[in-house]
Amino acid sequence: MNVLEIAVLPGDGIGKEVMPEALEVLRCIAQIHGGIRFDFVEFPWNCEYYCETGKMMPDDGLDTLAGFNGIFLGAVGDPRLVPDHISLWGLLLKIRKGFRQTINLRPAKQLKGVASPLVNPKNFDLIVVRENSEGEYSEIGGRIHQGEDEVAIQNAVFTRKGSEAAMRYAFELAQKRSGHVTSATKSNGIYHTMPFWDQIFKEVQTDYPEVKTSSYHIDALAAFFVSRPQLFDVVVASNLFGDILTDLGGAIMGSIGIAPSININLDGKYPSMFEPVHGSAPDIYGKGIANPVGQIWTAKMMLDYFGEEELGTALLQVIEDVMESGIRTADVGGTASTQEVGDAIRERLHRLN
Ligand code: ATP
Ligand code: MG
Repeated sequence: MNVLEIAVLPGDGIGKEVMPEALEVLRCIAQIHGGIRFDFVEFPWNCEYYCETGKMMPDDGLDTLAGFNGIFLGAVGDPRLVPDHISLWGLLLKIRKGFRQTINLRPAKQLKGVASPLVNPKNFDLIVVRENSEGEYSEIGGRIHQGEDEVAIQNAVFTRKGSEAAMRYAFELAQKRSGHVTSATKSNGIYHTMPFWDQIFKEVQTDYPEVKTSSYHIDALAAFFVSRPQLFDVVVASNLFGDILTDLGGAIMGSIGIAPSININLDGKYPSMFEPVHGSAPDIYGKGIANPVGQIWTAKMMLDYFGEEELGTALLQVIEDVMESGIRTADVGGTASTQEVGDAIRERLHRLN
């Protein structure tokens, strides 16, 4: 029996609406399958918690979470109560950094039954491996001079270890998929870091001779995501490039409300965190119309991550069947409620049995 202890953080806004649907889906899978059990422990750490306690989570919050196999997160942020930088740094980034979640995985795949905004989307199915801890997002730099001579300097930090870890992860993943890794670079314009990135990519590549590789400058790569996304299998990118590409990946799928992600701790010392790409969406919170597919697809990635790939594949198939049947929320052109989509997915899961 695969017993998974999962810390559940629904967070704010629509996180509180989509999380229950995903938990019910996982419970339903455990009930049908029998070989897997989830022990969910829910924590109410969000912006309301901050208003009561002055903190997004207790001081020993990370210690508490460290004992779990994984962290399942909804969405964090309610700018009406707490400025975004406080809620983000106080919870989400604290977990990502504290648990060394150095890789962010975000698939972009054309789902059956969800219209892509692309004119000719073909059947794209790619995944971006984003280095999640260093690169362009550094605190090194500063400002010099004043007035019209003022200058801001920002240093990007690429470690051999950080880049190599992201690339190895990408190659390993490609071996289980279509066997192709694309590197996002910009070594024609960025003098130091990107040639280093290219060099490491070439070195890592020699350990995976059966994996095909390509390397594109980020500008061309972004354009290809729009014109020919079917070219890509696994794309490995630095922190900033990966950030931009994965938002674009969500956009070409048709709605940010369906996009899933994982923040992975590679050394296995801390739990990884599973979260949909979307935020707390205050504009639609409380209406019962949030799309639960992002959270449920994230649950599928969690199943895959814990070695239950067969169940993960079956779940995605069921999500696609439900989308194709027309039971969809408004963001993907339907009229169904959050709960109706969740119910339809669970009902089909039961039918599989
Ligand atoms: P954050 O700062 O946390 O990213 P945000 O409001 O800037 O929050 P999102 O919460 O992702 O960004 O919302 C962006 C837009 O996408 C909003 O108009 C929102 O209504 C819509 N949206 C986001 N998630 C969903 C969802 N699950 N279902 C339907 N619409 C969604
Ligand atoms: Mg936002």
